[in-house]
Amino acid sequence: MRTEFLPFHRPLIGIEEIEEVVDTLRSGWITTASKTRQFEEGFERYIGCKYAIGLNSCTAGIHLGLVANGIKQGDEVITTPFTFAATANVIEHLGARSVFVDIRRDNLNIDESKIEEKINPMTKAIIPVHFAGHPCEMDKIKDIADRHNLIIIEDAAHAIEARYKGQKVGNISDITSFSFYATKNITTGEGGMVTTNNDKTAELLRMLRLHGISKDAWKRYGMEGYQHWDTIYPGYKYNMFDIQAAIGIHQLKKIERFWNRRKEIFHMYDEQFSQLDEITLLSMSNEIRHALHLYVIMLNLEGLKATRDEIMNEIQRMKVGVGVHFRSLHIHPYYRDKYGYKGDDLPVANNASQRVISLPLYPGMSNDDVNYVSHVVCSVIRRYSL
Ligand SMILES: *Cc1c(COP(=O)(O)O)cnc(C)c1O
Repeated sequence: MRTEFLPFHRPLIGIEEIEEVVDTLRSGWITTASKTRQFEEGFERYIGCKYAIGLNSCTAGIHLGLVANGIKQGDEVITTPFTFAATANVIEHLGARSVFVDIRRDNLNIDESKIEEKINPMTKAIIPVHFAGHPCEMDKIKDIADRHNLIIIEDAAHAIEARYKGQKVGNISDITSFSFYATKNITTGEGGMVTTNNDKTAELLRMLRLHGISKDAWKRYGMEGYQHWDTIYPGYKYNMFDIQAAIGIHQLKKIERFWNRRKEIFHMYDEQFSQLDEITLLSMSNEIRHALHLYVIMLNLEGLKATRDEIMNEIQRMKVGVGVHFRSLHIHPYYRDKYGYKGDDLPVANNASQRVISLPLYPGMSNDDVNYVSHVVCSVIRRYSL
């Protein structure tokens, strides 16, 4: 057994990021200015979109997407329950209702064939989440949205590198939100980015991210003399700032290198686990590019004499950090009690909640680390096999 614990995730921060942060600190400009813009421009090039707008989180981007589209009390927003709390929490912040649609068995994304039965005159928006980095069936979701006049806001927290039928995620819907949280594919510690190809949406999001202050007001007063600003909406304090962006600029340059290393690790895991009867792996469509954010195994509990939590604890005791993505939101107290859910109301999500384990997947892992994780997982599972 290893002596040192292998964490579930560890960001890979290089000397470039450190020097850029120090440069920012020395420059006298530490809040939103040129480095934020530089990171936004890099992100626009990477995604191939017209506008990328830096925020302090992905959560903020989803929230602003709802605000920008006038979502309000009494409206309904459809999403997946198999996500992080943030996706649905922002719907609740606006007094709107979260409507959960069950997920697909094969990749745990929202089941697009079950969306339409949840649509009624109150429904205003759909928030698809590209679980683990596998894009949702966006053609079908867009078709549903078009026919019912709904807006789409994509939660792409896992999906920066993803493509759907050749198109980069970030260009598919009007608004897409990405995360640079510490455990995501690239990081700024905390941070997010929202993308759009719509001039009006971009202008609105920029205004909303910083107090609802009109930039145009500045122009009216010209460059000479004091520049006044106008508050045109009670906006939010959601702006990314230059110390964050300094990290992001260099993380973005390494994004494909990181992805390629995760791909190697992914394949090493696949080779080890595809033989095990006690595990089901998620499937991958050949019409997509997977962002490879999470490596998820699903335990076949029928063939095991232990629960997922017992197996997880045993893996951690062997010094491997693991995670659970996710326990379906409809079984969390707030959503269960507010909407009166029973676990079996969303049977696929409920079942997956009890079976998933996420394994370490990050570019700083050595082959020895990957082999150790595989060895530990296989031996723990064999020990509990019926
Ligand atoms: C991490 C995550 C978020 C939130 O991202 P932040 O940048 O921390 O706000 C939202 N949705 C999903 C699916 C996530 O995994």
